[in-house]
Amino acid sequence: MQPAAKPSQATGQAPPPPPCHRCREIKARRYTAVRQGDRETAEAMVTAMGVHLRAAHS
Ligand SMILES: [Zn+2]
Repeated sequence: MQPAAKPSQATGQAPPPPPCHRCREIKARRYTAVRQGDRETAEAMVTAMGVHLRAAHS
């Protein structure tokens, strides 16, 4: 006899963001800038992401 329903394992996990080319590009650039110690570019990408989210995902 097996239980009909298992407890959900996805509890507490946020849904993945929508596949957006611009989002991926901004994240990739920010990640690269952080790894290279380029704080100016990294912060600019954070700002760009905020602007993009409001413009394209609101
Ligand atoms: Zn996006």
